[in-house]
Amino acid sequence: RAAAEGRRWMTYDPAELEDAEWKMSLLARLDQAVERDEIWVAYQPKIEMASGRIIGAEALARWSHPEKGEVPPSQFIPAAERSGRIENLTAHILDSAVGATASIHRAGHTDFSIAVNLSARLLDSPALLAMVSSTLARHKLAPHHLILEITETTAMASQDGIVETLEALSASGVRLSIDDYGTGFSTLDYLKRIPADEIKIDRSFVSMLEKSQSDRIMVHSTIQLAHSLGRKTVAEGVENGVVLNELRLMQCDYVQGYYTGKPMKLPALMEQLPQRESE
Ligand code: C2E
Ligand code: CA
Ligand code: CA
Ligand code: CA
Repeated sequence: RAAAEGRRWMTYDPAELEDAEWKMSLLARLDQAVERDEIWVAYQPKIEMASGRIIGAEALARWSHPEKGEVPPSQFIPAAERSGRIENLTAHILDSAVGATASIHRAGHTDFSIAVNLSARLLDSPALLAMVSSTLARHKLAPHHLILEITETTAMASQDGIVETLEALSASGVRLSIDDYGTGFSTLDYLKRIPADEIKIDRSFVSMLEKSQSDRIMVHSTIQLAHSLGRKTVAEGVENGVVLNELRLMQCDYVQGYYTGKPMKLPALMEQLPQRESE
């Protein structure tokens, strides 16, 4: 194994080298980027199927790099995880997202919730609980307006330590969502053990609803299973009205996708929220 890895470095694949250099240069700037506010949060509306209303949003990290332009999260989140920077980065994103939600509440939308993605790495960090509760306290936001999204594979890997962390978060009033559902290997036992309020069905199944009978069955049975366990369901990656209608027939609770709203800056999101009637 070591020998094979050694050999890999001996062959000069220019593309690979470039990729490695690019990631190194990104990493070198990441701490600075947080300080200089180059990392910001885009908000993708989450729609309640029954009412068609925006009842919340998912916070998605964005990096406006002064030289490279917009760097997608897939390029810097994994690198931040590997280099021990994810805690700092998450603290920054959580602070922005919770702060934004507090301002949405002040504008009168007091049932708005925010979903923030949480890296697997953080679930065994003893500082996580304090980070979450101090951020909520700083912005005076009630914990049930925060949803933490954890990927199915993370939750799966759950040793007791991780289940304990999730239970402590849940006990603090924060809500939990199982992200990318269907891409891992969940068992019923695991679904019962994780104190999740919500199951978020992965885009790969949702986007295939129209064409693939097996994906339709997968989505429908996930919704039924979730409901039978008292959990809500979210479908991600809804890109057209046909899929939206299918999900409505399946009684999916919430939807997210380019069709109902792309990730956007906070002011654009606030414009989409219904104007309050004047008192
Ligand atoms: P995710 O949590 O599964 O987020 C959904 C991704 O799907 C987002 O990509 C979103 O822009 C995209 N998306 C939403 N609707 C549609 C649609 O209708 N069609 C298509 N094709 N795509 C859609 P994005 O923003 O590039 O984020 C990618 C991943 O990066 C996220 O996947 C999440 O795993 C991770 N990520 C983003 N922000 C954070 C963060 O603050 N912390 C952590 N740990 N991970 C993050
Ligand atoms: Ca997510
Ligand atoms: Ca997802
Ligand atoms: Ca996904």
